[in-house]
Amino acid sequence: MIQKIDHLGIAVRNLDESVKYYENALGLKCEHIEEVPSQKVRTAFFHVGEVHVELLEPTAPESPIAKFLEKNPNGGIHHVAFGTDNIGAQLATAKAAGVHLIHETPIDGAANKLVAFLHPKSTQGVLTEFCTPKA
Ligand code: ZN
Repeated sequence: MIQKIDHLGIAVRNLDESVKYYENALGLKCEHIEEVPSQKVRTAFFHVGEVHVELLEPTAPESPIAKFLEKNPNGGIHHVAFGTDNIGAQLATAKAAGVHLIHETPIDGAANKLVAFLHPKSTQGVLTEFCTPKA
């Protein structure tokens, strides 16, 4: 079952500059910065109440975030992540509803979580992530 919006993923060109913006202009505090090899990104996390903001900077040209930045040169909202207590069941439900899954089985994500993405062509235009803490 989906329990909450866990985070908003925001694609950025320069992680360090973006972190400064969120800290200086919005007064948020960066919790941690982490490289996620499975997604070829460097990420920075901010607490915003119950929700997090996840900034994503590509670390390789074939990174999904690099491709997003080719289409959206200024960066922007990249995905919405729903926290679930059963990622396998969530994927099965989505698949049964006709959703095209990018990941049939969850992969390692940032912040010690398992994550899986649904294709935006079958999610009303919003790239959708399911995530759950690793056991
Ligand atoms: Zn995410």
